[in-house]
Amino acid sequence: MATIWQPPVRNTIALRRNCIPATWDSAPELRNAFVLSSSSESAALKLFIFQRGVRLADEIEIPESAREPKPWFPDEPTDELVAEIKAFVKETGTPYLWRGHTHTKPEKGALIRYKGEFDLPASHSGQKNRVRWSPCPCCKQRTPWFYKDGKIAWFPEDRLIRLIGPDCFKAINAQGHKEAEELFRAEQERKNTERFLLNHIGLVPEIIRAAEQNLTIIKEVDRMRAVLSLNLPRLIGFDLWQHIRADGVLKLEVTRTEQRVDRGGNAREITVQDFERYGPIQGGEMLHPDAPPIASRVEKQIELLKPINFSAFYVDRMNPDERRVAVKRFKAVRILADLFAEAEMVRRFLSPISLGSLNGWGKAENAPTRLYIGLSSDLIQLEIGKTSDSTTSIAFRPHFFDTLRAMPDIAKSIND
Ligand SMILES: [Zn+2]
Repeated sequence: MATIWQPPVRNTIALRRNCIPATWDSAPELRNAFVLSSSSESAALKLFIFQRGVRLADEIEIPESAREPKPWFPDEPTDELVAEIKAFVKETGTPYLWRGHTHTKPEKGALIRYKGEFDLPASHSGQKNRVRWSPCPCCKQRTPWFYKDGKIAWFPEDRLIRLIGPDCFKAINAQGHKEAEELFRAEQERKNTERFLLNHIGLVPEIIRAAEQNLTIIKEVDRMRAVLSLNLPRLIGFDLWQHIRADGVLKLEVTRTEQRVDRGGNAREITVQDFERYGPIQGGEMLHPDAPPIASRVEKQIELLKPINFSAFYVDRMNPDERRVAVKRFKAVRILADLFAEAEMVRRFLSPISLGSLNGWGKAENAPTRLYIGLSSDLIQLEIGKTSDSTTSIAFRPHFFDTLRAMPDIAKSIND
């Protein structure tokens, strides 16, 4: 391809004869390279290439049927019609060929209502597909003009639908565009809110039930946290929380000797006390003495969900403000999921892997304390002490190790 352009070209005639390839229309990248590489030529020559390029490559054939006015839409377009248009655009990439589109310029004073937005498919998107962009009846009727954020515009007085570029009507009538844009956004918000509620409201009874079941487990996790954070320092004579709180890591004490040279130039050995990493410990938050109970936070979120424990039929009877308020309450579901994750993390302190780490560390020669921590085989007693033969028992209530029920995935916003 690169060989087609052979500078320097001596005159315009030579350029016209030799340099515009027969495949011009189907080779936009070639045309771009061609225009770019002409930059050393005279301005007149560049203009020639540019104009010729646009006319040959970019002109779109608009069938008479597209230009024909189609006053078929006296009523507000339905969601089904909007869906049909979007599907057609996605399928073909040619909004101007949709059966109901009228490819004529709207009047300046025409009343306009936006009913939807569309992007051309990937095959028609971006700079590299410029020749396949859509023309626009408002401003560029025969040349590629846009590929995304196109608008489905309904003209109620003319009973027409035009598929136009993003801000095209703004250039014709800024006030009319602004008003239509605001109405469209408000309508979108209303529809999305309603859809979100209808999609999620049915989940609420089960969410509340699951959260209440988890609450029994979480109350026991809170209780064990209170007991352990208070008693462990006393039982082993060591503040394990202070030891792990900064980095979640169990450490061993090491003593090193280092060579130092003093100001007089004399070398001497000094002893340095230091820690070395033993291993991470999961769920160290179990020992956090001032942690706020998780259960009361869960209860608060359950209370927020109770007022929206109603059936989908009721959504119809709500006004837009009530729907918006109801949607906000769904935030509780994600907060609950976070609280359950927190409880899960905290009780990992008593998981087999954490107990294994604690006991290994608690026996290590250089550990800052002795520690033994074990579970009875029936999982109802925790044994804690400096060694396995000097332990104190702490009783679990049932439920501590029960499985926490998961929360369903809830869309993050009404637009998802
Ligand atoms: Zn336009």
